[in-house]
Amino acid sequence: MLVITIQGSFSNAKKQIQEANKKGDIIELRLDLLDDLKHLAKLKGFCLLPVIFTLRKCSQGGQFSGNAREQEEKILELLALNPDYVDLEYDCDLSFFKAVQSKFPKLKIICSFHDFEKTPQDLNRILSEMKKKEATIYKLATYARSSLDSLRMLVFVKNQQDVAGMCMGEDGVITRILSPIVKSLLTYTYIDQKSASGQIQVDVLEKIYHFSQLNQQTEIYALIGDPVDKSIGHFVHNRIYEKLNINGVYVKFSLTIDQIREFFSLIKKLPFKGFSVTMPLKEKIGMHLEVIDPLAKKIGAVNTLAWEGRKWKGFNTDAAGALDAIEAQQKVRGKKVVILGAGGAARALAFESIERGGIVLILNRTEEKAKKLAHQLGCAGGSLYNWPIDSFDVLMNTTSVGMKEQFPKSLIPEEMLFSDAVVFDAVMSLKETDLLHLAKRKGCTVVYGYEMFSRQAIKQIELWFKRSFKCEKFLEMIEQIYHREYLV
Ligand code: NAP
Repeated sequence: MLVITIQGSFSNAKKQIQEANKKGDIIELRLDLLDDLKHLAKLKGFCLLPVIFTLRKCSQGGQFSGNAREQEEKILELLALNPDYVDLEYDCDLSFFKAVQSKFPKLKIICSFHDFEKTPQDLNRILSEMKKKEATIYKLATYARSSLDSLRMLVFVKNQQDVAGMCMGEDGVITRILSPIVKSLLTYTYIDQKSASGQIQVDVLEKIYHFSQLNQQTEIYALIGDPVDKSIGHFVHNRIYEKLNINGVYVKFSLTIDQIREFFSLIKKLPFKGFSVTMPLKEKIGMHLEVIDPLAKKIGAVNTLAWEGRKWKGFNTDAAGALDAIEAQQKVRGKKVVILGAGGAARALAFESIERGGIVLILNRTEEKAKKLAHQLGCAGGSLYNWPIDSFDVLMNTTSVGMKEQFPKSLIPEEMLFSDAVVFDAVMSLKETDLLHLAKRKGCTVVYGYEMFSRQAIKQIELWFKRSFKCEKFLEMIEQIYHREYLV
């Protein structure tokens, strides 16, 4: 059930309640965060949904500064307004829980636990302690230090009946989105002001993730890597699932190389069915897979995982996605192709360019990596700073230069760009990286990172759902999403 928390001044709270009545299942009046409790009866009167009263003390993340006795007295006094639920912190006295129950027998109690520093390893033990107090719902909100904590919380909640479990912090966001899938009983959200970090605004939950459609049969897909915050994958995939009537949701969360092992052990217990893989994992994740598609194996980089035959199988859709986008402008057969970078994306693009008949030169900041990759693929390679050629037909930037907001300079100076060349930049963060800006000024044909992204994402969807569909149908839609997100 979607709980919309209300706080602030009377007039603002009233506005929030009116909106919450249309968008949520329950309204939580945060008694410690409302400016003035003298209007509480009126505010409650505006609520058309069941109401939770929460008077959170400072040590549990709220703003009620009185002592335990004062908190108990205030709660008992306010319960005379007959809310449907009351949130009582797990460390309130057992005698207080009993007093509330006997005085208000119809009232449902939410027994809550908060940890603002970590997600404890022993969530089951904490729950057993909480269960010494009788309640309808047991709520555990803990701080996620990494996405692994959130996955652990999701697994924990999935195995319970009467629990609402969620993580705070940026890495906790997925526990909120995925809560209906693990049957977490309450998901806290807000209209215009968060009451805890990691909460997602109610309209975002619905418009992007189609939260009200999610259920225990929903399959989970996700982007993993580090960083993932700039990716538009969640906008794109969820929109396509909606159009194709697929009961799936796509989220993104950060994952580093040292977390991969634990990640695989946790996802076994959750209905994940596919992953998009980004830097720095593309070349490393393969060693944790039982099956790798021969093409991805040859490329040596995996950007897609699909759950097939009870195993995770690795694929590469970057290679064909990028080359399809570039070849929409210029076939590479017999052309001089210069690739900047020697990471996962470079590997895929170089491989596919060679497959399609291009004459490839790989240039990288770390020269040995360029040489090593070139040797493996059977092409030329060298240092980025020792530009050895005087012409090219296609230039592909696959370094992460251009990803940062501060708009770093192109690795290639304008005088080295030729007007008849095609210039592609894999970077997605800005519509026009400095490289593409210079290339356009020089009269080159430019291909944006999102054009590759669109095609590789569509290929992922085809793999995951075993359907093929007309790519063109979605290219325009993805372009619009991209422009909306980045052209601000
Ligand atoms: P990666 O494996 O980490 O490789 C990063 C590459 O960038 C390496 O060659 C690295 O050189 C180089 N690099 C980083 N900082 C540099 C700097 N300051 N100067 C020069 N070179 C620098 O990453 P990846 O997975 O290949 O991804 C690379 C980029 O492609 C990212 O921006 C990613 O978002 C983008 N990408 C886009 C799409 C899409 O669909 N549009 C798909 C995949 C990737 P060293 O070897 O010297 O460290």
